[in-house]
Amino acid sequence: MTMPPRIGVDLGGSNFRVAAFAGGDTQLATPIEVHKEPVGEARDPASIVERIASHVERLATPYLGARPVPVGIGLAAMLRDRRGTVANSPHLRWRDVNFGEQLKARLGPHYALGIYNDVNAIAWGEAVAGAARGSQNVLAVFVGTGIGGGVIAEGRLVEGASNCAGEIGHVKVRWDDAAAPCACGSRGCVEAYVGGSYVAARIAKEIAAGASPATVALAGSIDAVTPGHVDEAAANGDEWALALWTELAPLLAVALGNAIALLNSERLVLGGGFLGRAPTLYEQVLLSLAVAAPAASLEPLTVVRAELGDDAGLVGASALAAAGISTIQ
Ligand SMILES: [Zn+2]
Repeated sequence: MTMPPRIGVDLGGSNFRVAAFAGGDTQLATPIEVHKEPVGEARDPASIVERIASHVERLATPYLGARPVPVGIGLAAMLRDRRGTVANSPHLRWRDVNFGEQLKARLGPHYALGIYNDVNAIAWGEAVAGAARGSQNVLAVFVGTGIGGGVIAEGRLVEGASNCAGEIGHVKVRWDDAAAPCACGSRGCVEAYVGGSYVAARIAKEIAAGASPATVALAGSIDAVTPGHVDEAAANGDEWALALWTELAPLLAVALGNAIALLNSERLVLGGGFLGRAPTLYEQVLLSLAVAAPAASLEPLTVVRAELGDDAGLVGASALAAAGISTIQ
C-alpha cells in the first residue's frame, strides 16, 4: 500500500495553506500539492475547523488505511498546552479556543494531529529539511514585522513548560526607565527595537522630520521609504542610515549572543522578511555577534540564512506530526 502523505497546514492571519508532502521522508521540502485561500472574515473556530478539515480530507482520503495520516498545523498563536488549546491569537481574534480538540473530533481517528506554534514549526522545517539539516542543536531566529525564534536542543524541539520556549523577541536588551514599550505589554524587548514594524515606524518618523535626503532619493518619495532603502543608503555610506543600523545591530546581536551562550547551538538560522531585505544590517549583526557571544560558544557555531522561505512552516509542522511530536492522543 502506498505510504500516506504527511500534511502540513499554515494558519496565518491572512491566509491558510494546506500542503501534502510525499510520506515517509521528512527531509522532503517540496510539497506535492498546496492549497491556499484567504482566511476571510469568518474566523470563528468552527468554520476554520471545517474548512481546514475538508482540504485535509481531500488530500488524504485516497490513502486512508491502517496508518494514521500525519497532519501538523502551525499557527501564529500562544498555545496553552500540547492539545492545541489557543490561549491567544490576535491574528485570528481567538482567546481560549480548544482548536486542537475540535479539529481532532472533526477529523476522527484516521489522523495523527499536532498543533504547533508557527515559529517552532518553521524552525523544525529548517532543521529537518533546510538550512540546519543534520544539526542537533539549532537556534532559528526570524526577524520580520516582529521577532520569533525556535530552539532545537539535542535533536528535540524545545517547547517549554507552557509552550513559550524560544520567544527570543521578548528577551530584554534594555531595562531602565527609557526602555521601549513592546506590544507584549513589557518593555525593553529586542523586538521593540529591531522588529520590522518598530523599525519601519521609527524610520517613518525620522524621515518625516527631515532625516536622510539620500534615503528619500532612493525611494522616490518620503512615503515610499522602506527599511530596504535605508539598508541601501547605509551601504552607500549615508550617515543617518549607518548610525541607525549601528545602533540596532548590536541589540539584536546581544539577544542572539546571550541565547547562544545559553544553548551552545551549532547552527544559528537567521531569516524573516525584514532581515532578508537588509543585507547591510545582516552583516553588521554578524560582526556584533562575533564579540557578543562567548568565544567557546562561537567556535562550533555556523550562522546560516533560512532556506525554505514560506514553505518552512508547512514542512516543519508536517514533519513534527509525522515524527509523533506533541500529537494529540
Ligand atoms: Zn515584548
